[in-house]
Amino acid sequence: MTAAERGTVYLVGAGPGDPELLTLKAARLLATADVVLHDDLVPAAVLALAERALTINVGKRCGRKNITQEEIHAMMIDHARRGMAVVRLKSGDPLVFGRAGEEMDALRAAKVPFEVVPGITAAFAAAAALGKPLTDRRSASSISFSSGHHAPGSKLEPASLLGATRVVYMPGRDLRVIAEQLRSEGLPADLPCVVVSRAAQADQQVVRTTLAELDRIVPGPAPAILLAGAALGEKEAQLPAGMRMLAGMEHEQQPVLQP
Ligand code: SAH
Repeated sequence: MTAAERGTVYLVGAGPGDPELLTLKAARLLATADVVLHDDLVPAAVLALAERALTINVGKRCGRKNITQEEIHAMMIDHARRGMAVVRLKSGDPLVFGRAGEEMDALRAAKVPFEVVPGITAAFAAAAALGKPLTDRRSASSISFSSGHHAPGSKLEPASLLGATRVVYMPGRDLRVIAEQLRSEGLPADLPCVVVSRAAQADQQVVRTTLAELDRIVPGPAPAILLAGAALGEKEAQLPAGMRMLAGMEHEQQPVLQP
C-alpha cells in the first residue's frame, strides 16, 4: 500500500466513530498524512491513527466557531500547495451532508488534485445497531436520506416515497416539526420510529417509538439520527445467527417523553 501523496487532498469518510469501521484506505491515509483537517464529530480514537500529522479541528461547533467554509477551502488549498499530503476528514461518508460538493468545486477551481474515500454513513451504522434492514422486500423498497436541519416550511419528501424507510440526519432535539411533516404525508400513526444516538460508539443509545408519539420523544445525546419506516418494526426481531448487537444495545433507553 502506498502512502498519501504530497500536494493532494483526500476527502475521507471517518465512519460513525468506531475506528474499526474505517476503511483500510482511510486508515492508511491517516497514518501517512501531513495534515488532517477534521470536523467536530470525528472522535479522538480515529484521530489517534493520524500519528505523524498536524490535526486541525475545522468543525464549526467546537473547533473554530467563526470559521467560514471559504476559510476551510483556503486551508486545504494552501497546505496542498505547500507540498503536504492533506486529509479532509469528515464523519460518516464525506459525500452525505458534508458540504463536500463545495469543497470539491474549490479544489477543482484551484487545480489541486483530490480523491474521495467513502465511509460508512450514519444511516448504515444506525441500521446495524438496530439489527434492522433499511430495505426489506416485505415492507420497504426504497430509502430516503434527508436533513432535518432545514426543515421549516419545506416538505420532507414527495408522496411517492410512502413506502420508503426515511432516514433524517440532523433531526434536532425537538422532533415536532418532523413528526408533523411525516403525519401530513399520510403516514400511519403506528409507523415505527427510532432515534439512534451515537451509533457505533460505546455509549450508543436507542429510543423507539411510533409516529403517534414521535413529537414527545427526547433524543439521546448528539449526534443522533432518526429512522422511520415499516421495516424497522417488531422490537424482538432476531439478528442472524452469529451476529451480536453492538455494545450499548443492552442499555436501550426507555423513551423519555416530554410533558
Ligand atoms: N457525513 C455524515 C453526516 C454528517 S451530518 C455521515 O455520512 O454520516 C451530521 C449528522 O449525522 C448528525 O447530526 C447525525 O444526524 C448524523 N450522525 C453522524 N454520526 C452519527 C452517529 N455516530 N450516530 C448517529 N447519528 C450520527
